Amino acid sequence: MPKAKKQDHYSSKNPAEKILTLLTDFKLEAIPENYQLFHSYVTGDNPKLADEMRPLINERVLDQTSCSILHNRHFQSINLVDQTLEAGDKFGKEVGSVLRLLAAAERNTVEYEKTLSGATDILENGSDPKSLKSMVDTLLVATTKMQQRTHSLEAKLNKTTAEVSTLRTNLEQVRTESMTDSLTGIANRKRFDEFMQNSCQAAQKGEDEQQLSLVFCDIDHFKRFNDTWGHQTGDQIIRFVAGCLQRHSSKTHLVARYGGEEFAVVMPYTDAQTAFDLADNVRATVESKKLLRKSTNEDLGTVTISLGVANFLKGESVEEFIGRADEALYHSKNDGRNKVSISSNPKNDRNAA
Ligand code: GH3
Ligand code: MG
Ligand code: MG
Repeated sequence: MPKAKKQDHYSSKNPAEKILTLLTDFKLEAIPENYQLFHSYVTGDNPKLADEMRPLINERVLDQTSCSILHNRHFQSINLVDQTLEAGDKFGKEVGSVLRLLAAAERNTVEYEKTLSGATDILENGSDPKSLKSMVDTLLVATTKMQQRTHSLEAKLNKTTAEVSTLRTNLEQVRTESMTDSLTGIANRKRFDEFMQNSCQAAQKGEDEQQLSLVFCDIDHFKRFNDTWGHQTGDQIIRFVAGCLQRHSSKTHLVARYGGEEFAVVMPYTDAQTAFDLADNVRATVESKKLLRKSTNEDLGTVTISLGVANFLKGESVEEFIGRADEALYHSKNDGRNKVSISSNPKNDRNAA
């Protein structure tokens, strides 16, 4: 960790110098995501980000993991907005060009109709063979032109339909990505917040038997694990725990990465006992697996997790519900870890830890 320096250490330099000094001081690589993060910090263009970074810098605890987390949180959504705008722009241009073609086709049809009615006049009023021959030639040219235009319009419409469908698929992918945690592939915090809001609303309105449970999970002594084996192996463990939670959950549950090494499972239509059983099965599975370091095959031993379960109480807010699951989790931690606890409430006054 770098030595503590005066707080105005970075203030006399220009932005590029400040960024470089910060990167060097914190032994961080000059990769684009770090540069973007520090650029925003030194220019102060995102006060929320600056407020989160300042204490980490002052306390000299900023590392690559926290940089990646901050970058994900503050810039991923900006990239998505850019991608969405770009796709929308393309879509607008495609529709514009088809509308222009349709307008041109309409003009051509009017001209073609004029040519046809001219020909009818000549036929009705009787004409010499010479003008009949020239009329047939004119009709042939007009019909060929019309056919060509119709074909090119059809081809253009087919191409546009394919492009619009690709754009739609891309937008769906962007939406899915914006809701997915990139390290584990499970739902991210944004998706969790959205799902919780909807599930609590449904449980609030629903019948009394319609229960909603929430499980919170945190890896035990993970700092120690990171310090011993490094962040990359730490990431491997985060993916392993996410996979265990996912495998034990059903399709109607939402398994999400709540924060660094904390996870949540939202379980609509599930009572506290079922949620407890699921949590305890995951706990036992995680504990039972002997872990190997992927890169070197070294024996990593085992890891354990602590969990907290809460059952939604009608009338409580989403925050209160989350708070109770979190309290139950910390009960498990204080009780020695590798445990599952249920939040005590009038409905479920039991503690399984
Ligand atoms: P406890 O049993 O009390 O939970 O102890 P702990 O060491 O696990 O403490 P805590 O839950 O506070 O530790 C969180 C650590 O997780 C700190 C941080 O370095 C690490 N971490 C957070 N996000 C990531 C990540 O994405 N990858 C890796 N490798 N580590 C992360
Ligand atoms: Mg934690
Ligand atoms: Mg932990």
